[in-house]
Formats: sequence, structure tokens, C-alpha cells
Amino acid sequence: MWEKIKEKLLRTISCKSLKARIFIIMIAVGMIPSILLQYGILNSYEDRAVSLRISDVQNQMKIIADHLLNYNYLQDTSSEVINAELDQISNLYNGRVLIINSNFRIVKDTYGISEGKTIISEEVIKCFKGESISNYDKKNGYIELTTPIMFSGSAEYDNPKTGKIQGVMLTSVSTDSIAATLDILGRKAIILQILICVVILGGAAVLSNILVRPFNRLTDAIKDIKEGYTEELAYVPDYAETIHIVDAFNQVLARMKQLNDSRQEFVANVSHELKTPITSVKVLADSLIAQEDVPAELYKEFMEDIAAEIDRENKIINDLLALVKMDKTAADLNISAVNINELTEIILKRLRPIARKRDIEVVFESIRQVTAEVDEVKMTLVITNLVENAIKYNKEQGSVKVVLDADHQFFMLKVSDTGIGIPEESMDHIYERFYRVDKSHSREIGGTGLGLAITRSAVLMHRGSIKLTSVENEGTTFDVKIPLNYIA
Ligand code: ADP
Repeated sequence: MWEKIKEKLLRTISCKSLKARIFIIMIAVGMIPSILLQYGILNSYEDRAVSLRISDVQNQMKIIADHLLNYNYLQDTSSEVINAELDQISNLYNGRVLIINSNFRIVKDTYGISEGKTIISEEVIKCFKGESISNYDKKNGYIELTTPIMFSGSAEYDNPKTGKIQGVMLTSVSTDSIAATLDILGRKAIILQILICVVILGGAAVLSNILVRPFNRLTDAIKDIKEGYTEELAYVPDYAETIHIVDAFNQVLARMKQLNDSRQEFVANVSHELKTPITSVKVLADSLIAQEDVPAELYKEFMEDIAAEIDRENKIINDLLALVKMDKTAADLNISAVNINELTEIILKRLRPIARKRDIEVVFESIRQVTAEVDEVKMTLVITNLVENAIKYNKEQGSVKVVLDADHQFFMLKVSDTGIGIPEESMDHIYERFYRVDKSHSREIGGTGLGLAITRSAVLMHRGSIKLTSVENEGTTFDVKIPLNYIA
């Protein structure tokens, strides 16, 4: 239980789980835009509020500049009207106004602390040159701006005496109210953000569960197969992907079933083939035991039959062992450079006495000398099986012809006979284990039905090919083609 939870947790943390990925993506897609939006809105509110404040203050200061000139305030600061106006604006914006004359002397400071002092700052000089400046100091929470003192009306402006800048007003206003509004908005945005986060988390959890559900159903269906409730994976039609997985899985299941069936059939065939000689031995032995005073000749005859059956059993077992070895990987091949002409000669020499018994002629036509990289033992099995079959399934006084040729890539071995041939309908089955065209005839002449299965496996292990052509009652030809150089 704990192990399962731990494994699930680990999988979630390492983001291996599809559900966790969907969950994280949804949160990212939902949250990032809302955070950016909140940040953007607050920032643009601040910009707008500050620029509005600057233009408000600037407009008011321009009006006051006109009044200052009308009241000749730069020369005489005693005007109560102007002082009241200046106090009013300082209070309204929680700020400070400095009025500087053309000698850079401060004639009025609403804080009353710098009057009479001289101020030569960059902003003031620029303003005297006609360039009004406004600065927003976010950190300290104020805006500083300069306003030239000059007549704004066109008549005075055009007059060279009154049109020039006669002084500068340096105003600083607090932006605390903007900061306070921003603070309130920021807090509301955080509450909204938390709400959005909760909704998105919930939505993401529900949706990721729903999206992953078909895969969970798929896992359950596979478990059902594992536990043996069903033999085919039920369709999960929710996604194209699940349909493909089910299709692929069912194909694998069908292949496994096919393999299992052929394995069962093979085991049944093996048991049957192994049982037949033993049954014969048992019958022969029982009949001897049942009879009293059996003549010695009969004993000898029965014993010879028993020995023949034991030989047969032995041959089946040897062929089976050879076949099992073939089923192993190609790594088991013992590759060396083999003179195929010599090898064929040796095999034919061994088989000729058997052929001679039935008056069958065995001819070897060697078109060129061939040395190839092959497994000598397995190649011996290939040639032996083909020539042995050509003799076994031949007619009296027939012939067997073996032709060896090669090009720059392959060597070709052709084994043809003038025998009984293979019916068309049997040609597709000839390489199957234990398949025989005529079971009783094959058994009579000592066949096991495994020879061609072994031959084909050995040829394929060498990356070669085997082809059969046959005409019933006329003869059969097997064409084997093997690469001269072994391809791993
Ligand atoms: P077996 O041990 O019975 O010969 P094989 O696997 O070598 O088994 O051959 C399978 C069957 O193919 C044989 O039983 C036989 O019916 C048929 N066969 C093989 N070679 C020939 C051939 N040259 N001519 C006619 N029939 C053949």
C-alpha cells in the first residue's frame, strides 16, 4: 500500500505521469496570463495616473505663472492673492512650490525655508532655456516639474520685453494618493488571483482526471487480460491514440496466441512421433513374452525390428536436437572459410552407397571452386538433407544431380532429382516440422519430417534463401543461395 502511494508520488514529482503533466500545463496556461494581465493593468494605471497628475499640476502652474506676472510677484512677493493660491496648490497636492527669478534666486518657498537662496540646478537652467521638465521619483513618491514664468497670451508673448522667460517655478507634488490607490488595487488583484488560482486548480484537477481516464480504462482492460478474464483487449474509443494502442495490443495478442498454438501443436507432434517407435517396441516385446518356446530365428527377427525402432527413435531425437539448436540465435554459428566443393564431395561419397542400393546415380557438377564463410556442421546438414531426400523420394534407377556455382556475392547449390515430385498443395507446407506428403511412405523409408525444417533454418541463419520447384512424378529441384561472406 505504502509502496504504491510512494511510487505514485514519485511518478507525479518526476512529471512522468500524464495526469501531472496535464495538471501543470493547465495551471501554467491559466495562471501566467492572469499574472501578466494583473501586472500590466497595475503598471498602466500607475503610468496614466502619474501623467494625469503631471498635466493637472502643469496646467494649474501655468495659470499661476500668468497671475504672478500680472501681480509683479517676482519683484514683490507680498501679494496675498498669489500667496493664497500658492498655499492652496501646495495643500491640494501635498507639495512644495519654489519661485525662482531670472537671477536664480528663490523669491518664494511655500515651506518658507529656502527664500533668498540661489538655486542653479540642471532642471532650472533647462527651463530658462524653454524646456519644461517633469520627473517621477517612484521610490520617494513625488513628481518634480518646472514651469517657466512667462505670458502665455499671444500679445505679450510676441512682445520681446514681456515674451521672454522671467522666472521658473519648481514644483514637487506627492504621489502618495496614487500609491495608496495602487496598493488597494494590488490587494484586490491578489485576492482575485487567489480566487482564479483556486478555480484553475480545481478545474485542472478535474480535467486532468477526465482526460487521463481512458488510459486508466486501458490499463484495467490489460489487467483483465493478464488475469485471464478475457482474451481480447476491449476497444477504448475515446482517443485515436487509445484505438491505436488497442489495435497494436490485439495484434500482439493474436501473434502470441498463434505462437502458443504452434508450440502446443509441436509438443503434441513430438510426443506422437516419439511414442510411435516405443509402441512398436512394446508390441514386439509383448508378443515375444506372450509366446512359449519361441524359436531362436523369431527372437532374432523381432529383436532386429526392435533395434530398427530404437534407431528410428534415436534419429527423431537427434533431428529434434538439431532443430532446437537452429532455433537459437545466429550467435551460435561457428563461422569459418569452408571449401564447399570438397564438403559436397565428402557428403556425396557418404550417400552414394545408399543410392547405389536403389540403382540411383548421383552426379556432381562443380562449375567453379567455391570457398565461403559458413558454419561447416550446419552447411553439412543442409546438403545432406537435400541429397538424402533426392535419393529417398526417387524412383528405381533414377538420378540425382548436384550443381555448384557462384557469382561475386553468393554461391548457388542446386539439387535436382528424377523422383516422385511434390504435389502443388504440399509445397507451402514442406518446411513445416513433421510435415510429410505421404506419412506412411516417409516413415517406411526412415523420414522424420524434420529434415527440411532443419535445412531451411540453417539456410536462413546464413542469410540465404531456399527455393523449390517440383513436378509430380517427374522430379524436384531445390535451389539454395548463400552469401559468400557471412553477414552478421
Ligand atoms: P522426411 O524426414 O520425411 O524426409 P523432410 O522434412 O526432409 O522430412 O521432408 C518433408 C517431406 O517433403 C517428405 O516427407 C517428403 O514427402 C517431401 N519431400 C522432401 N524432399 C523431397 C523430394 N526431393 N522429392 C519428393 N518429395 C520430397
